[in-house]
Amino acid sequence: MQHTVSPVGILRSCFKEKFAIPRQPQLAPAARGVLELLPPFDQGDAVAGLEQVSHVWLLFLFHQALEDKPRLKVRPPRLGGNKSMGVFATRATHRPNGIGQSVVRLEGVEPGRLLLSGIDLLDGTPVLDIKPYVPYADSIAGASNLMANDAPEAIAVDWSESALPQARDHALRLAQPLVELIEQCLAQDPRPAYQVPPAERLYGVKFWDVQVRWHYPQPDRIRVLEVVRES
Ligand code: SAM
Repeated sequence: MQHTVSPVGILRSCFKEKFAIPRQPQLAPAARGVLELLPPFDQGDAVAGLEQVSHVWLLFLFHQALEDKPRLKVRPPRLGGNKSMGVFATRATHRPNGIGQSVVRLEGVEPGRLLLSGIDLLDGTPVLDIKPYVPYADSIAGASNLMANDAPEAIAVDWSESALPQARDHALRLAQPLVELIEQCLAQDPRPAYQVPPAERLYGVKFWDVQVRWHYPQPDRIRVLEVVRES
């Protein structure tokens, strides 16, 4: 059986590239985005009642990881990228039908727009459906996953003398919690698990319209070096 689905909205996200997006929602509460609903869902009727809900499930398309040939096994970054697992044992982006799911905080409801935080989705992600989080059914006491029971351990993030004021200025200009966003995302240690970077190696990523650059003065410590606007 084949069935065609089409997006109900497109997410406008703080994340402009895949690198440094947290591996799951809620790891960066300062990660914000706006879900712009598409016709006919851009009318108030489609979201009536949603203001009573604190969190929503987003079902979405991993539009930058779609593949023609389905994989049976994948190498999740969480396991260091060198151990393969059955695709259905993981939340890998390369998967049949390319469907992702994230539970995110609903900050505001407007006709045609949902304001969201705690997201782990790339800018431009097509959203296929939105469902309210139902605490009694969606939170399971005693549930376990031996591969990913706890959130990944955070690493220390500090700032160069110039980078912190730069980040604060851009936070004011953007009206976004940019300092927190940078700290929360980099604390997830975005580098591939197998890389032990020399201290002189620079890493970078774009959040909103700013480029953030950092290095690892020690293998388990990040120093933010620069936060500059990039058009
Ligand atoms: N919470 C979702 C799930 O479990 O289905 C996503 C988990 S997936 C491991 C998270 C990663 O997906 C992020 O780190 C980001 O790099 C990637 N990602 C987010 N949006 C994407 C998109 N639209 N296309 C491709 N990759 C995306």
